[in-house]
Amino acid sequence: MKKQYIIPIFVPHLGCPNDCIFCNQKAISGQKKNITKEEAKKIIEDYLKNIKEDAQIEIAFYGGSFTAIDEKLQDELLEVAYYFVKNGQVESIRISTRPDCIDKKTLKRLKKYKVKTIELGVQSANNYILERANRGHTFEDVKKASKMIRWNGFKLGHQMMVGLPDSTRIDEINTAKALIKLKPKMVRIYPVLVVKNTKLEKEYLEGTYEPLPLVQAVETCKELVRMFADKKIEIIRIGLQNTEEISDPENKESEVVAGPYHPAFRQLVESGMWYDAIVGKIKKLNVKVKEVQVTVNPIDANNVIGHKKENVIKLKETYDVDLILKQDENIKQGKSKIDITKIYNDFLEDEKEKIAK
Ligand code: SF4
Repeated sequence: MKKQYIIPIFVPHLGCPNDCIFCNQKAISGQKKNITKEEAKKIIEDYLKNIKEDAQIEIAFYGGSFTAIDEKLQDELLEVAYYFVKNGQVESIRISTRPDCIDKKTLKRLKKYKVKTIELGVQSANNYILERANRGHTFEDVKKASKMIRWNGFKLGHQMMVGLPDSTRIDEINTAKALIKLKPKMVRIYPVLVVKNTKLEKEYLEGTYEPLPLVQAVETCKELVRMFADKKIEIIRIGLQNTEEISDPENKESEVVAGPYHPAFRQLVESGMWYDAIVGKIKKLNVKVKEVQVTVNPIDANNVIGHKKENVIKLKETYDVDLILKQDENIKQGKSKIDITKIYNDFLEDEKEKIAK
């Protein structure tokens, strides 16, 4: 299978008619000024120069609300991207936008330039929470836009948030349920971070908004991932990408003021899920387990062990169980073989033998 590359082009806040409570797109994308077609062309050419292998390459217009920007500029940017699709250097184009910025005319334009994927910023399925976050659209807009996107043959993506003001775990589970019904091919899950110069920062400083603790954000994301994975919906991102601006709030350069930030947020979620699976297996047995061997695909090895060996340490400290990791290319990614390799009686026998010697 060819390696996949994404050439990201940020269109920060360009044309976005809104001012969501949590958003400071210019800070998040690290790009302070708007983009021109010449700059877009240069970004693509620079990336292409560095991709040496035969790969599957996609140009992605991220940030802002692509289909809300001036039509002339949309055409110019898409034309630049489409040029590379036509000459075979790039395979596809992806854009992200707001649900209320999708209509027939817009989809026709995106089709003309062979855009393949459209990602919608949904954030919540609860209209009260959308209003509280100053999203400026309702969940009915999401439903309408999602259907139009799919019916017109595009790949549909959704983005949702965890920890918005007044949102509870149940609201987030309900959002995932509502999204699943709309049949996206992929989702992104973003725990809310308090970013500088946003309305949310003001609320945080005034004490009217309290961000989710990291542990709670991870727990909710684990549940969401399970729900989407069960329906074979690809989870393309969990947590904002770690950049100079999106980094530890302790860091001077960081634009993040507070919230469940972690440089390896996705790993915390995925390794937490492996931990639950291992503990679940141990708890089902009617014996005191002393050692468990988990065989997985090498791709999953780090997640089984956990961030900074967290799973190994937690299993030992909580259950006095040793975790042995075995890697096997023949096991499918995400699947595992969990064997109990030592129970407490074996351990006692071993100890007795040692003493006898
Ligand atoms: S719609 Fe998107 S770009 Fe516009 S303010 Fe909200 S989050 Fe930011």
